Amino acid sequence: MMRWLVPLIAAMGAGLANAQDWADVRTPAPGPPQSIGSYTAGCLQGARALPLEGPGYEVIRISRNRYWGQPVTLDFIKDLSEKVRAAGQAPLYIGDIGQPRGGPAPSGHASHQIGLDADIWFERQPGPPRPAAERENPRLRSLVVADDSGIDDSVFNQQYVTLLRLAAEMPHLDRLFVNKWIKQRLCQTVIGDRAWLNKLVVWAGHDEHFHIRLYCPPGNPQCQPQARYYSDDGCGGPLEIWFTHPPVKLPPPDAPQVPYRPKLPAACQAVLKAP
Ligand SMILES: [Zn+2]
Repeated sequence: MMRWLVPLIAAMGAGLANAQDWADVRTPAPGPPQSIGSYTAGCLQGARALPLEGPGYEVIRISRNRYWGQPVTLDFIKDLSEKVRAAGQAPLYIGDIGQPRGGPAPSGHASHQIGLDADIWFERQPGPPRPAAERENPRLRSLVVADDSGIDDSVFNQQYVTLLRLAAEMPHLDRLFVNKWIKQRLCQTVIGDRAWLNKLVVWAGHDEHFHIRLYCPPGNPQCQPQARYYSDDGCGGPLEIWFTHPPVKLPPPDAPQVPYRPKLPAACQAVLKAP
């Protein structure tokens, strides 16, 4: 049986990306920044590295080498961090942006492939940045209680509302992913201008961090934009469904990781192979 099974699997894999190949490349591809493909099946030419710390932020889990992105993404993070600092809040923890050439990652998530996604954690560490080694496994508290029955009010407070609003109102933001409980709390409590809630898209997880996704930048013709998600604040039916028939469920933490092997645009092969 093994004799025919192995070639069959090899044939099925032809043309599909191997995430480890993308993780193994430690430098960006030369050339001007270009996002190629979609957020979940693409790559990035000419990536830039986010400085590992700056005013109002510090990169965590540096060893993952996922602090590469489009210049617009790095500027977004720097500008948001400045705003958060000006609001009197502790520095942000910046997690994964993307790999040096984008592409699929062997673990963690399906998107973050074209340099326009980034994870920002809710947890903060007041005071000056710590040595890189201490940023590998920081405490990362969730805003949702462990049995997923609601917001953890011992952690949640107004500073998170301010943070999410500052991010949602930034230029270039396409959408921002948060947990259903967080969106629900905002839907129930935000008064006055609620237009920014439109950008907060509910997704599974995203209770310890939120995820920013930027629009395809001008001059990136191979970047595939996404349709707008909500027509309004997204507090009605599109939120309710997450409590009745969740469209996406995360596998349990102990489940084996199934490698994600999307079919990438042909142009990504040159990005992967460039010297
Ligand atoms: Zn993410």
